[in-house]
Amino acid sequence: MTAVAPTALQLGLCSCEHCGLLSRAWPGHEEGRCPRCGAGVELRKRDSVQRTWAFLIAAAVCYVPANLLPVLTTKTAAGSDSDTILQGVVLLWSPTGWPLALIVLVASVMIPSAKILALAYLLLSVQHERVDHHDQHGRLYRIVEFVGRWSMVDVFVDAFTAALVQLQPLMSVSPAPGLFFFAAVVVLTMLAAESFDPRLIWDCDGAPEALHAGT
Ligand SMILES: [Zn+2]
Repeated sequence: MTAVAPTALQLGLCSCEHCGLLSRAWPGHEEGRCPRCGAGVELRKRDSVQRTWAFLIAAAVCYVPANLLPVLTTKTAAGSDSDTILQGVVLLWSPTGWPLALIVLVASVMIPSAKILALAYLLLSVQHERVDHHDQHGRLYRIVEFVGRWSMVDVFVDAFTAALVQLQPLMSVSPAPGLFFFAAVVVLTMLAAESFDPRLIWDCDGAPEALHAGT
């Protein structure tokens, strides 16, 4: 399905992110004030593509040590042992522990990489104005945004696992460097999703001159 209705940008209108009021943009200016609530309104998020790329590349860089470095150090009477996320998944994998292992695998390895790839795909499509299926791209962005809200679940899973292990006598668990990189991946992918302006998906549908009208 292709969009036939003109976009708000083509009509010179922008919506307030705070109260939702649709108002006319100042001619020649990118940013103005909402006449109803006074909040700053922009036709499009400033430098959205560049900022999203910056956060996304930083997230991809941190993703490598997050998976290669140990995330938890377990100390027992026999000595200390450090495990990466994947080693933790293997350790947890048992007839009773597999659901937890599966949650850690999906939340720590699969979701962050899927988010990075999905956002990179959306950015490349928008940059090359090759968006044929706007509704599908819009849906993909909504999925990325929805999943982003649940990214923190994994940090809780790790804390929960640590608490379970702490219950066993003569054993202690402490965070290892990989966990900080993992937290950085979670935060950076959330910032990347936040920086991306989904309205750019619809701007690709013709009228490229309107896209740059305010700059
Ligand atoms: Zn407003």
